[in-house]
Amino acid sequence: MDKQQELDKLNEQIKKCTACPLFKDANLAVPGEGDSKTQVMFIGEGPGYWEDQKGRPFVGQAGKLLDELLKSIGFERSQVFIGNVIKHRPLDNRDPLPEEIEACRPFLDQQIAVIDPKVIVTLGRFSLNKFLPGEYISHVHGEARFVDFAGKQRIVLPMYHPAAALRRGSIKEQLAADFKKILEFINNDNLVKKEDSPDEDQEKNKEKQIDLFN
Ligand code: URA
Repeated sequence: MDKQQELDKLNEQIKKCTACPLFKDANLAVPGEGDSKTQVMFIGEGPGYWEDQKGRPFVGQAGKLLDELLKSIGFERSQVFIGNVIKHRPLDNRDPLPEEIEACRPFLDQQIAVIDPKVIVTLGRFSLNKFLPGEYISHVHGEARFVDFAGKQRIVLPMYHPAAALRRGSIKEQLAADFKKILEFINNDNLVKKEDSPDEDQEKNKEKQIDLFN
C-alpha cells in the first residue's frame, strides 16, 4: 500500500469512529487532507462549523488566512498536509476535552507515521501540547524544537492558531513572521531536491524551487 492508500484507509476508520461521543452531534468527520508525501504537516485543533459541514479542514475564515499564509511562502495547500488533533466538531466550538483528544490520538499518530513529515507546524495550544506538554504558545511560537515522534526526530514549529490571529492584529503579524521560518527550515535542511539533469539552467531553476517532496 502506498502512503495515500494508507491515509485513505485511515480516513474510512475516522469516518466510522465512535470512540468518543463527539460523533453524535457532528455532521461530518474531518480526517485531514493534503499531499501524503509532503515534508510539512500542519496540525490544528479540531473542526469548526464549516469544516463540519464540508468534511474538510480549515475551510472557514481561519482556513482562508491559512491559505494566504501558505501562499505568502509560495505553497499551495495541496502541497502540504493539514490535519487536526480531533476529527469531529465539539458543539459550539468548545475546547476539546482530554478524553476526546485521547480517543482521537491514535488517528493523528498514524497520520504522522504514514506521512512521516520532517516539519510539524502546530497551530494553537492543543496541537502544541501534544508535542510539548505544558508549553505556552506565547513563549515558544516561532521557535523550532526537535521532538522524537513516531520513531524519528522531527522539527516541531509551534505557531499561534489562525483564528487567534483573526481576533488580534499583533498575533497575525507574529504568525506571518513565524510562517517565514518554515521556509528557512526547509532551505536550511536541504529539502531542495536536485534531480540528475545535464542542463545547467534547468538545474539552477530547480534549485530555486522549494521542493517539499521526497
Ligand atoms: N480550526 C482548527 O483548528 N481546525 C480546523 O480545521 C478549522 C478551524
